[in-house]
Amino acid sequence: MVTVVKCPTCNRDVPWREDSLFKPFCSERCKQIDLGAWASESYVIPGEPVPDDDSDPENVWSKARRADG
Ligand SMILES: [Zn+2]
Repeated sequence: MVTVVKCPTCNRDVPWREDSLFKPFCSERCKQIDLGAWASESYVIPGEPVPDDDSDPENVWSKARRADG
C-alpha cells in the first residue's frame, strides 16, 4: 500500500515514498515555489515604521548647535 499525499503547491496526488526527494511536494519546482512564498512573506514585518531622527528639522537643529559647542 502506498501512502498518497497532496502536493501543498499544486494539490496533485504525490506517492509518499522513502525515495521521494521532494515530499510532500510532487517536484522540485513545487518545493521551490512553496519555499519562495514562505521566504518572501517573512520579509514583511508588521509594525510601525521607526521614525528617522534626521528627518525631523528640530533634531537637525539641535545637532547643529551641539556641533558648534
Ligand atoms: Zn506540485
